[in-house]
Amino acid sequence: MKVPREVGKHTRDKVYSENDPYLPPKGKGLVGVVICKDCTSVYHNKKWFLDAKMYKEKKGLKNVNWVICPACKKTKENVPNGVVKLKGDFLKQHKDEIMNLIHNEDARSKKYNPLKRIMKIQDKGGEVEVHTTSAKLAQRIGSILFKAYSGEVEYKKHENAKFMRVEWRR
Ligand SMILES: [Zn+2]
Repeated sequence: MKVPREVGKHTRDKVYSENDPYLPPKGKGLVGVVICKDCTSVYHNKKWFLDAKMYKEKKGLKNVNWVICPACKKTKENVPNGVVKLKGDFLKQHKDEIMNLIHNEDARSKKYNPLKRIMKIQDKGGEVEVHTTSAKLAQRIGSILFKAYSGEVEYKKHENAKFMRVEWRR
C-alpha cells in the first residue's frame, strides 16, 4: 500500500499575489463605479465583489465604467496562475463526487474574491485538468482533495512566477 504523501507542501505559504501584471499597482485603485461586463463583478473599495445585489444596485448608475476584470482577462487570454491535474482509477470511479467538491471550492473562493476562481476544466476521461486564476486556489484544491480522499499530491511552484502546478493522483 502506498503511503499518502503531500510533496512540496512547505511552499504553501510562499505564494503571493505580488507581481501579478493583471492586478492594478498597489495603492492605486480604479476610480468610479467599475463593473466587469463579463462576470458582473463590481469593484468597490479596492476589492472585487461577485454579488448579485451589489451588481443590481450599481449597474443602473450613470458613471459606470464597464471593464473586463483581471480574472476574465486571464480567462480570455488563457493565462492561468494554477493548473491542477487529477488522475488515477479512483478519479474515474468517483469523478462526479470529486468534481462537485472542486466546484464547491470554486464557489466559495469567488464569493470571497471573484479574482480567485476556476477558469477552465478540461476533462480528458482518465485525466482532468483544472485551470485557476490563482496559484493559491490551485494549491487549495490539491490540499482539499488530499484531505478528502488521500492519494498523492504534489505542488510545484515555479520560481520567480506566480504560478503553481499541482498534481493529485489516486
Ligand atoms: Zn470578470
